[in-house]
Amino acid sequence: MIKVDQITKSFGQLQVLKGISTQIGKGEVVAIIGPSGSGKSTLLRCINLMEEPTSGSIFINGQEITDPKANVMKIRQQIGMVFQHFHLFPHMTVLNNLTYAPIKVKGLSKSEAEKKAKELLERVGLADKADAYPSRLSGGQKQRVAIARSLVMEPDIMLFDEPTSALDPEMVKEVLEVMKGLAHTGMTMAIVTHEMRFAEEVADRILFIDAGRLVEEASPAEFFMRPTSERAKQFLEKVR
Ligand code: ADP
Ligand code: MG
Repeated sequence: MIKVDQITKSFGQLQVLKGISTQIGKGEVVAIIGPSGSGKSTLLRCINLMEEPTSGSIFINGQEITDPKANVMKIRQQIGMVFQHFHLFPHMTVLNNLTYAPIKVKGLSKSEAEKKAKELLERVGLADKADAYPSRLSGGQKQRVAIARSLVMEPDIMLFDEPTSALDPEMVKEVLEVMKGLAHTGMTMAIVTHEMRFAEEVADRILFIDAGRLVEEASPAEFFMRPTSERAKQFLEKVR
């Protein structure tokens, strides 16, 4: 579903990604972990074309998205992204946060969009918040709305960039539960996270990134039990 081939990314003189290659299969859940500043967000942002790689190529469903002729709008629709800081539209109700893009971008009727939106709010446990404004929600609720808002576009792939890092501890679990449920539906997911237990339990594979390089790629069992690189060992000692 996703193929990343030798991508590099530089910001001016600073090379942030130094040749990363990997593949993510359909229905696979991959956790991307590594120290702060190692390039995890930049990698995700390259996959959904929020950043353009300096070199290398990325394929989604066999289609090269780094091709200058690629249809960026169409590709972005296939990929949902959830951020640390929710990015909800503050002046819209929860329901309108969900219906806005399907109506605008996909041309759904208001009633079709609302029907789908309500189903998704139900799924993330927020059916009763449809008419609330984001400012009235807790962090965990906001993030569940953000997930539902991505899902309403029916993406093939969901990218998560530290979705629980801005949450109070008591709200982390409700968001992780929603993500776990999504993983069980067969969604293809790439998740940047510091939640090691979640990664261990839910991910099919761990990518450990350090200083712009993919240092280890292994099953959770292997990675957490027997990390091979010195960098991963040090990292795990710090975070566990
Ligand atoms: P991570 O998500 O692993 O913490 P990032 O991908 O956010 O790391 O950042 C990796 C490096 O790239 C950092 O040194 C960061 O300062 C730098 N960086 C990220 N985005 C930009 C940008 N738009 N312009 C300049 N430097 C950037
Ligand atoms: Mg980041």
